[in-house]
Amino acid sequence: MVKKKEEHNGRVLIHSLPQEEAVLRSKAKEFEFTELSLMEIRDLVVHMRSVMRKARGVGLSANQIGLPYRLFVAEVPDGHGSTKFYAIFNPKLEKLEDKELMDEGCLSVPGVYGQVERYEKLILKGQDAKGKPVKIKAWGLLAQVFQHELGHLNGELFIDKAKQLYEVVAQESARKK
Ligand SMILES: [Zn+2]
Repeated sequence: MVKKKEEHNGRVLIHSLPQEEAVLRSKAKEFEFTELSLMEIRDLVVHMRSVMRKARGVGLSANQIGLPYRLFVAEVPDGHGSTKFYAIFNPKLEKLEDKELMDEGCLSVPGVYGQVERYEKLILKGQDAKGKPVKIKAWGLLAQVFQHELGHLNGELFIDKAKQLYEVVAQESARKK
């Protein structure tokens, strides 16, 4: 069952609490569009966007708030002074190209950053909030966020493969996913 908005307090699960890490370490299951009404799905997306924004993240996967579904939201600068919001259901990555080391942090691992090898370019396929297929060509930060969130949905955390992990006290300027 999907928790209703009012049943979730808006807190992001963190890996340092064993019970919460167990949830973060579980592979999320396919999202079935028949289980929820379009209104419930819309409410869920709005809720996840609000949790992500309050936490100042650029991405949030459903299992980071305890929902075991293959769904994430992301909001990334579009290079023209505004941001673009994404809500992707049942995502898959294709045509991964050009690996490079990127700085990364995570809302579920507060205060810790590191360098992770990510693909610079990729194509994301999945479904939108109505179940319609989507295909997004992504590079740079957006491609990084997509890979980070896919990791969450597979029960992985960026610290698993990060190099040179470091702690930061002031997090204001850093991007978190
Ligand atoms: Zn994360």
